[in-house]
Amino acid sequence: MSEELAACMASARALVAELVEEGVEGFERLTDEEVAAMHPAPLVEQAPRSNAPVEDAPPPSQTVSLEQVREELGECTRCGLSEGRDKIVFGDGNPNADLMFIGEGPGQDEDRSGLPFVGRAGELLTKMIEDGLKIPRSEVYICNIVKCRPPKNRNPKPDEVSACQPFLDGQIDAVRPKAIVTLGRPATSLLLGEDVSITRMRGNWQSYRGIPVMPTFHPAYVLRVYTAENRRCVWEDLKAALARSRE
Ligand code: URA
Repeated sequence: MSEELAACMASARALVAELVEEGVEGFERLTDEEVAAMHPAPLVEQAPRSNAPVEDAPPPSQTVSLEQVREELGECTRCGLSEGRDKIVFGDGNPNADLMFIGEGPGQDEDRSGLPFVGRAGELLTKMIEDGLKIPRSEVYICNIVKCRPPKNRNPKPDEVSACQPFLDGQIDAVRPKAIVTLGRPATSLLLGEDVSITRMRGNWQSYRGIPVMPTFHPAYVLRVYTAENRRCVWEDLKAALARSRE
């Protein structure tokens, strides 16, 4: 076997290990259109990895309220996720929060209740916020990149994420948090405008719409791989994000 082939296989093995670590259990065959949609033009210029956020865009000059964004969303049927949902899960928390959390998409408990992060992963997130950071959950704002539950909790597809992105942007513009925590790979990749490895990206300040972004592991991943190291990483990331939101 050539050296080049051996190196290729080693990096493929490393990628598969990383996907398994992040909870990916299988792959769906994508259409050509879906593959093309997965490589959109970057939303923001790729930020260098450092501990200082890079300004990527000035804040929007127009102010929008969460109510206006929710009204615009309406009884959304912009993508296929609307067909399987029970409730739209818009967001929850303080409309003037300094700290915002962005997850991936509602699960079953969220779909039934209409509130983000109320299932097992949500309990862990709430515990980290309330027992760890020592602030009430109602002080922060929590939402997801898609507002309707993907079937069987699969990752949202690119067209579903794109259909929902204006509403996420609207929420960010309405709340204007001083820091954002992205929970897991899909939320982090969306804000950074490219598919990223959360293992490599977590703990490093990024920026979206001029707001510092701290990527960290998704609480569902922390529950799945419940190691002291993973919990320590998330704890460090959340502490840094809270401190930044208070500057
Ligand atoms: N996982 C998410 O990403 N979001 C939720 O609201 C619940 C679980």
